[in-house]
Amino acid sequence: MNEEGSGAGGYGDGTRAVRAGLPEPVKYEPTLPGPVFAAHFHLPGDPTGPYTYGRDENPTWTHLERAIGELEAPGESVETIVFASGMAAISAVLLSQLKAGDVAVLPSDGYQALPLLHEQMRAFGIEVRTAPTGGDAQLSVLDGARLLWIETPSNPGLDVCDVRRLARVAHEGGALVAVDNTLATPLGQRPLELGADFSVASDTKGMTGHGDILLGHVTCRDPQRAAQVRRWRKIAGAIPGPMEAWLAHRSLATLRLRIDRQCATALTLATTLAERSEVTGLRYPGLPGDPSHALAATQMRRFGPVVSFVLPDKEWAERFLDALRLVDDATSFGGVRSTAERRGRWGGDAVPEGFVRFSVGAEDPEDLIDDVLRALDKAAG
Ligand code: PLP
Repeated sequence: MNEEGSGAGGYGDGTRAVRAGLPEPVKYEPTLPGPVFAAHFHLPGDPTGPYTYGRDENPTWTHLERAIGELEAPGESVETIVFASGMAAISAVLLSQLKAGDVAVLPSDGYQALPLLHEQMRAFGIEVRTAPTGGDAQLSVLDGARLLWIETPSNPGLDVCDVRRLARVAHEGGALVAVDNTLATPLGQRPLELGADFSVASDTKGMTGHGDILLGHVTCRDPQRAAQVRRWRKIAGAIPGPMEAWLAHRSLATLRLRIDRQCATALTLATTLAERSEVTGLRYPGLPGDPSHALAATQMRRFGPVVSFVLPDKEWAERFLDALRLVDDATSFGGVRSTAERRGRWGGDAVPEGFVRFSVGAEDPEDLIDDVLRALDKAAG
């Protein structure tokens, strides 16, 4: 893991997280202004902005967008656009940047809703090529591409690709580069620093971390590209509610506390699972023996809350999930309450029936590990 210094932006990650996006203090005003519920704003005369109509802009989004930008690229001038969900953010980049005849390269092992998007893109006349994340295999299909979409670590397989290398080669060939940074969050990985044009995320996951809202964002340096993405949000109307945006901003204050705890416990969990004979296919980029560890350590600052592994078969995995007391059998990841699921139940991911995706929460590590060991023993019968 790269050591965090105070670095660009002047402060450490925790300090930045608690102060990110706060407006200048105003006497008798709250530190973080509350959500602004408005479909329209008073607007005499010409509509010069900044706040005109609720689908275009909202002051609560503005504060959150500044906050996320400060975490994505400390000390730099970037623009962030928040969305109603991660998929809204992903679609906004792909559909605002590509047109009929363009070629897009996406991961074949990325988030399982991506193939639905491929279908739509193909219907619009965009050529979609896919290749796995591991081994930088997307390079092999990059020729002539207009946009490269990277997801690293990939979900749910936790493979890692070299963002700097892929971004360099893509840019040499004239392609834009977007990274789905959902799993890492900006405290785990900063795609723009690694050379990407867009950092995109589902903030439904670790970024907001409480499993109670859906949200997404896009951050980029180029104001023109940002304007195109913002325009897409206006057209598609995939806007976050003010309450969700405010809750997200409030949640960012604890991002470092949550992520540090979750990553530390995830490493302990992975180390513990490595000792179990019924566990195979164990993956955690932070585990020194993991095939991705050396590369992950060159580009990740924290390795994320997700550990994946395979139990002998479907029934074994179901028994394990059933026996857990502190871990909810639920999809999604990155929340303060641990979740785990048998990923094969959805279809669509190329994983064995006994494959478990485990998202480590903020419980006391001893309690969680005890619970997992007890459930493994019970599942083994
Ligand atoms: N990207 C990744 C890596 C995800 O895991 C998910 C959801 O699980 C998404 C994007 C989509 O995010 P949302 O559910 O907020 O639309």
